[in-house]
Amino acid sequence: MTQTKFDESGMAATLDRQRAAHLDAGPPDLAQRKDRLARLRAVTLAHRDELVHAISQDFGHRSRHETDLLELMVVIQAIDYYRHKLHRFMRPERRHVEPLYQGGKAWVAYQPKGVIGIMGPWNYPISLLLIPLATAIAAGNRAMLKPSELTPRTSAVLQKMLAKVFGEDEIAVILGGPEVGAAFSRLPFDHLFFTGSTSVGRKVMAAASANLVPLTLELGGKSPAVVARGQVNARTLNALVFGKLSNAGQTCVAPDYALVHEDDLDHFVADYAATVQRSYPSGPNSNDYTAIISDHHFARLNGLLEDARVGGVKVIQVGVDPGSAMARPRTLAPALVIQPADDSAVMRDEIFGPILPIRTYTTMDEVIGYLNARPQPLALYYFGERDADCEKLLQHTSSGNVGINNTLLHVAQDDLPFGGIGQSGMGAYHGIEGFRAMSHAKGIFAQSRWNLAGMARAPFGKLADLAIW
Ligand code: NAD
Repeated sequence: MTQTKFDESGMAATLDRQRAAHLDAGPPDLAQRKDRLARLRAVTLAHRDELVHAISQDFGHRSRHETDLLELMVVIQAIDYYRHKLHRFMRPERRHVEPLYQGGKAWVAYQPKGVIGIMGPWNYPISLLLIPLATAIAAGNRAMLKPSELTPRTSAVLQKMLAKVFGEDEIAVILGGPEVGAAFSRLPFDHLFFTGSTSVGRKVMAAASANLVPLTLELGGKSPAVVARGQVNARTLNALVFGKLSNAGQTCVAPDYALVHEDDLDHFVADYAATVQRSYPSGPNSNDYTAIISDHHFARLNGLLEDARVGGVKVIQVGVDPGSAMARPRTLAPALVIQPADDSAVMRDEIFGPILPIRTYTTMDEVIGYLNARPQPLALYYFGERDADCEKLLQHTSSGNVGINNTLLHVAQDDLPFGGIGQSGMGAYHGIEGFRAMSHAKGIFAQSRWNLAGMARAPFGKLADLAIW
């Protein structure tokens, strides 16, 4: 595979080549798909050190632990999941035949769509490209990938490593910024899979609609964490700190803000700070604490804190003395923002950083009303017993996914569909849902020679006489 440079007609030519190769070779069988997955697995592991290093350079700092756990392990797990489940997913599915047509056979064949376009964000630049790629391969497709321009070193490693085991007519990586993304989303793919912000997702969907390209949108938003009354304990705080501070909060399913019972506020604030200090003994200078991806995002996050302070809202930064220097650039200390107004900047937009605003509530009905007055989030987290309040919250609110007494871990359950709803996304992947999103479910009905439906020919009187209603 040679490096594909930005040039719209070049991209279109790559798509044409992939489509022609797909049609020429026919849909890959189980062994071919497993072979492609095995190649992807082996080449990813062979480049583990290079990827860990590149991503740390792209971020300014990110530890091996985080990249191993949140990128590489989940990729390998997803590949292995599909390798084990594929024979079942690929099996044609028998369907019910209407009584009038008995003797015939109805089934669904899951066919590869063809060529899948995959667009990725910067926050998990490996897993959010390679898991969709594994899904596309499992479903028998070829794919073109467009990584984010904010992680150029990681994208270069991905491009180089995939070229070692796939021809460009199987898998191609297109590098470039928003203008390349815009051109990429205009291509007539057989399916477009986009992970990124809601605002860019809108543009991508508009571009795809010109060619009626079906798409999956994995978007963002503000995922709330609801802490039931009296549930400020080690399990809750460990999970919240893990979810909020992994990748320094630059995670689409990070708990964005917490809703805490009014009686528990002081306890929550003190214990959250203590948990951060225990988890990151050297504060934000700890090796496991990731830097903020760019100057723009660093300034944006500091702006949120400044906006809160100027508005008279209490801001607590944990593990750092005010004004003290950080060992590494673009390091933002974990912060709590206590009771910000609903219309303040920190409560309006997705935070995507290590800042946790806390709002208090008095009843679960109030929580449900609060959530339902806002866009449906990608994830909803609940901390507490599986009691009537929990059931009510689950039944009366809508979110892409739900985590109970944990954060982020639903994403690691490969058999669960993962995706958003409303402004947090459209469609889902992981599990059989991912396989099916990238397959065409072709319904087939085969007529038997000897059955009543043999009369389904003009004139229709005979068949119509049999109708029962
Ligand atoms: P982004 O929307 O800015 O960029 C995503 C991709 O779109 C990049 O490859 C970029 O080059 C491309 N792009 C930018 N402008 C474009 C345009 N006008 N037309 C077409 N393509 C364009 O997102 P980001 O900043 O990289 O990622 C952060 C966002 O992604 C957050 O909102 C986060 O919640 C979301 N996210 C969602 C998930 C999920 O699984 N649902 C996962 C990670 C991140």
